[in-house]
Amino acid sequence: MIKFNTAFILSQDRVKNKQLGRQIERTVEFIRNTCELLEFDETEIAHAIGVWSINSFGTNLSPNLVDSRYFLINLPKKFKAQSILIHQLICRAATVLFPKLCLAAHNCIPNTYGVLRIAESENFPHFAMDLYASMDIPKGSQIHTTYVDTLEGTYERETILWSNYFFHCDCKRCSDPTELGTYFSAIACTSCLKNFVLPHKNASGEILWVCENEDCEYKNGIHGDNFKSLLFQTKNEANRIPNEATLNAIQRLENVVKNCSQFYHRNHWILIKIEERLVETISAFLAKVEKTLGRFSKDEHGDLIQRVIDVSEHCLEIGDILLPGENMHRGNNGLRNFVMNE
Ligand SMILES: [Zn+2]
Ligand SMILES: [Zn+2]
Repeated sequence: MIKFNTAFILSQDRVKNKQLGRQIERTVEFIRNTCELLEFDETEIAHAIGVWSINSFGTNLSPNLVDSRYFLINLPKKFKAQSILIHQLICRAATVLFPKLCLAAHNCIPNTYGVLRIAESENFPHFAMDLYASMDIPKGSQIHTTYVDTLEGTYERETILWSNYFFHCDCKRCSDPTELGTYFSAIACTSCLKNFVLPHKNASGEILWVCENEDCEYKNGIHGDNFKSLLFQTKNEANRIPNEATLNAIQRLENVVKNCSQFYHRNHWILIKIEERLVETISAFLAKVEKTLGRFSKDEHGDLIQRVIDVSEHCLEIGDILLPGENMHRGNNGLRNFVMNE
């Protein structure tokens, strides 16, 4: 079961996805003109590229895991001297295709999670993916992975799935504007200022934001791109806060969370992402205090400890619905919650 439709790649999406169009043109040119392999026509080559691009996985390594031996060699000199720039450049370390793993289908509530392993032989990295079941999978049912960040909303997931994988997801989460009652994408209505607007996706993947208020002018929906700039602003505001374990960073994250409450539902994905960062930052700050003073006291740091417990519980509550089972999201939040409760 190769999840790929040739007609898509050859028609409208090739025009829409300019990068893919160029890739196909260059590859056709190389195979037919440079290599003179005329037995492969443009349709076959485009099909092969499509199968590859839809079924492969990107290995987006965290900068501190990147092994300079593999990736600095071909970079221009000016970048070799600037480690920060190098890290930004090489977040995509490789694109890999696993023959068995590509049989697993996408779902926005996956029942597995993958762990990428890198082994070395003959001085070259070899990638392998271990796939773990995050919940019981009944015999004969579909194994699901995910092609998107499941901690983003329906609009964001749909945009990535359509522009990179050429399909519209109709899983039970995508078909439910409330995302299983979590209100994970809910934004405060800018018209009636009373209710939330929710993403309603039709069969052709088009998203309309519909207000829950029957008397609101947005009850029939407004176009999906309308709230892009609000999300962009919030992301920017959070991104400007340095990744450091300081009281200043904690305070600034708290301010963004507070500011978000007027624009988004309290379970909105962008708020959950910022809350997860807040939990991570407070935990790192307390660990730093413990390292310096030998311990941190409940009297002095009780508020911060309680904040980690409350916020991680909120993240776990949403995770239990949208990312159920045993997975890394549950592991990270659960561990911080457990440590602070101790
Ligand atoms: Zn879905
Ligand atoms: Zn409204």
